[in-house]
Parts: sequence; structure tokens; C-alpha cells
Amino acid sequence: MDAVRSPTEAIINGRETILLGTYNYMGMTFDKDVIAAGVEALTKFGAGTTGSRVLNGTYGAHRDCENALKDYYGTSHAMVFSTGYQANLGMVSTLAGRGDYVILDADSHASIYDGCAMGNADIVRFRHNSVEDLDKRLGRLPPEAGKLVVLEGVYSMLGDIAPLAELVAVAKKHGAMVLVDEAHAMGFFGKHGRGVTEAVGVEADVDFIVGTFSKSVGTVGGFCVSNHPKFEILRLVCRPYTFTASLPPAVMACAATSIRKLMSDGPAKAERLWKITRTLHAGLIAKGFKLATDTPQSAIISVLMPDQEMTVRMWQALLELGVYVNMSRPPATPMGVFLLRCSLCAEHTDAQAATVLERFEAAAKAVGLPLGAA
Ligand code: PMP
Repeated sequence: MDAVRSPTEAIINGRETILLGTYNYMGMTFDKDVIAAGVEALTKFGAGTTGSRVLNGTYGAHRDCENALKDYYGTSHAMVFSTGYQANLGMVSTLAGRGDYVILDADSHASIYDGCAMGNADIVRFRHNSVEDLDKRLGRLPPEAGKLVVLEGVYSMLGDIAPLAELVAVAKKHGAMVLVDEAHAMGFFGKHGRGVTEAVGVEADVDFIVGTFSKSVGTVGGFCVSNHPKFEILRLVCRPYTFTASLPPAVMACAATSIRKLMSDGPAKAERLWKITRTLHAGLIAKGFKLATDTPQSAIISVLMPDQEMTVRMWQALLELGVYVNMSRPPATPMGVFLLRCSLCAEHTDAQAATVLERFEAAAKAVGLPLGAA
């Protein structure tokens, strides 16, 4: 990107482009209070901490950001990691050890898989979003073994949501701890924006929530919140937290300000985000595009493409017409699934949505993508 004008517009290859694949759900990247807090911290505390959280890398701003998270989620503990990737890497590899089991959805994010690879627990996968398969696989494990079930509120490839109430109930029936990655749901789901966990009323049964600052919060960083009484020990034993430099105080100030603003402004933004998501989803279906979900389930709309070549050509055509979307192919997607993923922002206007729909149609025509009957 040569220049970024706003959460929804950038100059790419010299062309005005509508951003439709940035996960900037709440549009906080250019919030004036967020930027002011970041500038102030940058000026006062410098460009970086040059150290781990457990050495010289804990400043007031890190504590303040963790307090903002505790307020947002209503939990007694919060721990900030340098990225969401590291939060999953650290939590999954540390919570379950030798002799324990991690049970994860087959469509889990790479960071969850990598956490499994880094740890010493045995790994069991269950079919994507299948309550029956989770139940069956948990039932085969030794009853006395420690078990961690890892779920996501929203799955980022297809934009579908998990049947969390049912999955969590099954996990609890088998005595498992539950971790839910709410990366794509923060701000958007639940009365307080705490995610699908809150929306379906299972907060009391979820032991750990992992999230990121790189989507709704609009900056960078990852976190885990929990009410687990022994949570704080993680600061010393969770290697992706301990053995890396902490985030710059300016990033922490941006994140804390953004989280607190979302506590007041989030619900209105979420309402706007649902509205524009429904508009685009219905518009793409009306134009004959095949989508991964029949109805909009999250702010991610995945357009199904027939093969790799058509996906690349369509992505390129859209970019040349001034629309940026994410192109996804295996191994990020399941075998044989090719996608153009769109993610909406609360700041997308109706006019932008109309332009996007026109450009999708024009791109399909330019590359010869057959569209279904409207
Ligand atoms: N979890 C999920 C479900 C994600 O989609 C992502 C990033 N796309 C992450 C974790 C990692 O977040 P971060 O960008 O903060 O590393």
C-alpha cells in the first residue's frame, strides 16, 4: 500500500482502492483518540521496551492495557502477548503437557496447530463444527487425563460461526477445559462485544479466551483473559510470552484506548457492521456469486471460486478495478477450496458497497467467471 486514507481506502499501485480484506472490523486504526494516545506514549516512553515482560519490558502502559482487557471481558486476569499468533502458540503449548490431550477443530487457525506442535500433549482433531464428532472423540480418551478443547468463535476462512453452546456443553460433560479464540468476534458478537462466547451465554464455562489487537482493536498484539485462579503463573512458564520483547508502549496505549472506546462505541459500530455485511452478502448472492454461507454469519464473506487459476485472475481483476480482497487457497483453506474473502468494516459506506458489487460483476465478466442465476 502506497498510502492509507482511512480504514476503508488506500492507494495501491497508484490506484484508489476500496479495502475489503483487512479485518479492520471496527475501523479503529484511524480513531483520533487512539492515535493521540499512541503519539503521547511514543514521545514519553520511546520507540520500544527492548526487553521481555519479565525483565525490563513491563511499563505502566502494559498494565493499563491488561486492566482495560479485564474491564472489557469482566475477568480477573489478562495477559498481553506480542501477537495473537503468540497468544495461541503460548496458551496451547503451555496449558496441556505430557499425558494431556488437546482436542481441536480441524479448521483451526495455524497458530493453534503450531501451539500443538510446540507442546507435548497428544493431539486429537474433530470434524469442523461437529458436536457429535467432538463428543465421540472425547469419549474415547482416558477419563482421568487432562483435556483442553480449543475452539474459535468465528472461523476466518468460511466466515462461519461455531455452535459454541453445544460444543462447550460436550467439553464440560467430559471434564475438559475450554479455550476459545475470539479473534474475529471481538467487538461484533455479544452485548459487550466479548464474542460468540458471550452471545450464546457460555462465558461461565469457557476457561480461556484468546484474542488479538490486529482486528477489531486496530493495532497489533494478542491476549488471553481468564478467571482461572492460577493464571498468573503463565507469565513465567509460557515461553512465547517470556522469551520475547514486549510490545512498544505506544502500541499498548493505542490498544488500551481502543478497547475502552469499544466499551462505549462498540454496540453502535457492531450494528452498522451487521447492516453493511447483510447488504454485501445479499448483493453478491443476487449477482449470482456462490458464497460459503447462505446467510451472513460474521463480518467475513467468502466467495467460493472454482479453481486456483480463476481465483488468482479474479483477485487480480478486482485489484485492477480498485477493490482489495483476500485470496485464500490450500493449505490455508481445506483441500480443493479456493476463496476470495471479503471482510467488512463498520466504516464502509452504502456507496462503497454498491461500488464493490458493480466491480465484482465487472471482474467476473472480464475473467469469464460464470455466475449462477440470480
Ligand atoms: N487467531 C485467529 C483465528 C486468526 O485469524 C489470527 C490472525 N489472522 C490469529 C489468531 C493471529 O492473530 P495476530 O494477527 O495477532 O497474530
